[in-house]
Amino acid sequence: MRAILLEQHGSADNLRYVTDHPTPEPGAGEVRIRVHAAALNRLDVWVRNGWPGIKLPLPHIPGADAAGEIDALGAGVTGWQVGDRVCIDPSLSCGQCEFCRSGRENLCNSFKIKGEDTTGTYAEYITISARNLLKLPDHISFAQGAAAPLVFLTAWHSLITRGNLRAGESVLIVGAGGGVNSVSIQIAKLAGAKVYVVASNAQKAAHAKQLGADEVIDRSAEDWSKAVFTRTGRRGVDVVVDNVGKDTLFGSIRSVCKGGRILTVGNTSGPLAEVDLRYIFRKHISIIGSTMAPHSDFVTVMQLIFEGKLTPIISATYPLEQAAEAQRLMEAGDVFGKIVLTV
Ligand code: ZN
Repeated sequence: MRAILLEQHGSADNLRYVTDHPTPEPGAGEVRIRVHAAALNRLDVWVRNGWPGIKLPLPHIPGADAAGEIDALGAGVTGWQVGDRVCIDPSLSCGQCEFCRSGRENLCNSFKIKGEDTTGTYAEYITISARNLLKLPDHISFAQGAAAPLVFLTAWHSLITRGNLRAGESVLIVGAGGGVNSVSIQIAKLAGAKVYVVASNAQKAAHAKQLGADEVIDRSAEDWSKAVFTRTGRRGVDVVVDNVGKDTLFGSIRSVCKGGRILTVGNTSGPLAEVDLRYIFRKHISIIGSTMAPHSDFVTVMQLIFEGKLTPIISATYPLEQAAEAQRLMEAGDVFGKIVLTV
């Protein structure tokens, strides 16, 4: 089959397009999907670059998100047919541990993400457990079905399930360009919140406005945490979404109101941040972390996409063989929305 192979960790130059990779066979409880679209995530670049101690068998097929048609059924699979249009939940869990049995699959003792520590989706065919499938309605394209899952389920779980965001609250989203952040704007609006966004330049500020942000602060033009304080009548916001980390946590602590919550699902500027604990206890701040989502949140957020209440934004489409080019575009940081590979 056709596939993209990561041959060694490093730059996008290490991604090679091949046409003779062995086609996988579905195991018991699994299906094989003929992939029509796969989407890029920041995760793909982190895995490609590698980190100290990473133990990933190479060559590796990257990619967490995909949509396509069921091509073959493994033993024991019921309720699905060859030809069904599907997208996948990229969260892989055992289904048996204490956390899985209580519906918190993202806390699974053997939790994995498709394409991070298992074979990914930049390929003509993939195999995955039938438990991870969701049927795509006819009006949803394969590109939309591939673009949505990872970023939407991550943002939904953080804002709604973990963050308990409620109508009438105010939310500050630090950074407008990343996949999870742009999706967070839409979800926070749908939840009935007033949305503030900190953007790094005027172009990203304009995109955030298009997605429904109520107030956008261009951090190239003003001190953003001071601006939040002023624009909220010296109160601060109820919730801050900070997936930047090291460079922004102090500003987030300044921007959140007394009793407020800071949500994080990542740390694009670095993992080690200094915290002045006096602010945490004096202001009664909660810092709430999460990663990925249980399957129930995946189903909930995808249903809202199918109903048109949330919309995956696709900014560029490349054929599979140009995956390296597509990753370079994402790394350059000039795109707003998802990059999709068509297979
Ligand atoms: Zn488990």
